[in-house]
Amino acid sequence: MRLSEFALTTLKEVPAEAEIVSHKLMLRAGLIRRLSSGLFTWMPLGLRVLRKVEAVVREEMNRAGALELLMPAVQPSELWVESGRWDQYGPLLLRMHDRNDREYCFGPTHEEVITDVARRELRSYKQLPVNYYQIQTKFRDEIRPRFGVMRSREFIMKDAYSFDIDQEGLQKSYDRMHDAYTRIFERLGLKFRVVDADSGEIGGSRSQEFHVLADSGEDAIAYCDADHYASNVETAATSRPDGERAAATAEREKFPTPGVKTIQDLCDLLGVTAEQTVKTLVVDGTDGPVALVIRGDHELNAVKAQKLDGVASPLTMADTGTIIKALGAEPGSLGPVGMTLPVYFDHAVAALSDFTCGANETGFHYKGVNFGRDLDEPQTVDLRNAVAGDPTPGGKGTLSIARGIEVGHIFQLGSKYSEAMKATVQAPDGSNAVMEMGCYGIGITRIVGAAIEQNHDDNGIVWPGPLAPFDVVLVPINMHRSEAVCEAAEALYAELSEAGLEVLLDDRDARPGVKFADAELIGIPHRVVIGERSLAKGELEYRHRRDSESRDLKREEVLELLKV
Ligand code: ATP
Ligand code: MG
Repeated sequence: MRLSEFALTTLKEVPAEAEIVSHKLMLRAGLIRRLSSGLFTWMPLGLRVLRKVEAVVREEMNRAGALELLMPAVQPSELWVESGRWDQYGPLLLRMHDRNDREYCFGPTHEEVITDVARRELRSYKQLPVNYYQIQTKFRDEIRPRFGVMRSREFIMKDAYSFDIDQEGLQKSYDRMHDAYTRIFERLGLKFRVVDADSGEIGGSRSQEFHVLADSGEDAIAYCDADHYASNVETAATSRPDGERAAATAEREKFPTPGVKTIQDLCDLLGVTAEQTVKTLVVDGTDGPVALVIRGDHELNAVKAQKLDGVASPLTMADTGTIIKALGAEPGSLGPVGMTLPVYFDHAVAALSDFTCGANETGFHYKGVNFGRDLDEPQTVDLRNAVAGDPTPGGKGTLSIARGIEVGHIFQLGSKYSEAMKATVQAPDGSNAVMEMGCYGIGITRIVGAAIEQNHDDNGIVWPGPLAPFDVVLVPINMHRSEAVCEAAEALYAELSEAGLEVLLDDRDARPGVKFADAELIGIPHRVVIGERSLAKGELEYRHRRDSESRDLKREEVLELLKV
């Protein structure tokens, strides 16, 4: 490709709307352009990268025996009513009407459609296992679209759905996808981890996520290499601390704490640390509000809490009016002493003695509170997010926390959809058997952003080879004034292209500094500079995007290096 014919527009300025590096660089390098909130155009340069991702995903899916099909993006509501999700899915679902006033949605995912396909197509266990996949556009009306293509509203997903006669078959299909995903992310040259995850909206039992590791990741991952353990913090289990609780040494005392709203305010005022305090949160329940008590420095885990008996799902904080009516105190002054609501204590709270908490009287807190004396011994549950230093569930080590970007997700759905939608096949004994399903997603567009989060420097993107829009960029110096340079550049361009490399020839009539800056910004792995002075010595100037210096090499050496 000749850059003079590529209409590339790069930006020097960092666009104001972009918060994270990948979003900034994708806009600056001209990979994407924003149309409207959460909607992006993939420009020619970006599309080349996207197609590379798709190609690797497609190859590995085919290799794993999955069958590509393409389902409609627009889906009739009837299928969603059948599965029960028309009412459940909420505002993420973009709903619409046609001219006959029939209801549709723009597919955020395709379980319903594929289950409909399978129940029509598949008749006998002899046809199983089957794994159908597609690479297609989804729409989710995200509450906070951000970070460019990382959390957009319209995005491209590879989604696959497996159908098996029994759980054993499903496990095999799932394992195959696990291995295919591992190969995909290895081939793309990304650092990633596979983590245990919550099955969330889609339901079912077993589920794992593939996360690209990056500091800007929205998800926290708890892991322990010694224990071969990795889990999304949403689901990482915490346990009751071992050992005896320290004996009570203090008397319970009440202190005025006017204006205290947060644990930090409380610590500053009373001279205690957050670990010595507990916070009491009131949430909506199925039968009136419920109190949840966790240590002051810990975070409530919504996924865990909303699974508790009597707690409403999705987890919703009770409003101030409800709290005052139930407890006679404002949210900043609540505590478990004399609690009249049903209450759950987190495991870690059970280890505390002489702790500080709200007095259920606005503007007052207690210090020196102890279980068995000021309140009953607690029944504890797992209510909080795991933190670094927590023991692993296997018990062999302690957890570390890393941040990750979810790029893939595999689930064992079981019979959730096949049962609701009556997707059955004839079993070996002649009976009708409900098929066991798995579903497997990859965020194709998100991968591009995630790859940049992991691979960039101050000057721009540093593409892993398999994702680069071009393999090599040729930068002739004064091409339009030097015949020798022009000839050498054209000859090299022809030879490298002929050898199957994707070559970008920067034949623009621009200053070398501009060309170098653009080549770095768009992140092409190999750069070859063709200048009169080095040509005279029979040399070219070579630099890999990851190198800090360029090297003068013979033409043959350059060809060898590029494996021509
Ligand atoms: P998230 O937790 O990030 O909202 P999800 O768990 O809802 O994602 P899945 O239903 O598991 O998403 O979808 C499969 C894959 O699609 C995800 O692993 C992710 O890579 C991608 N994906 C999901 N939502 C978006 C989005 N809004 N923008 C871009 N990619 C997305
Ligand atoms: Mg997911």
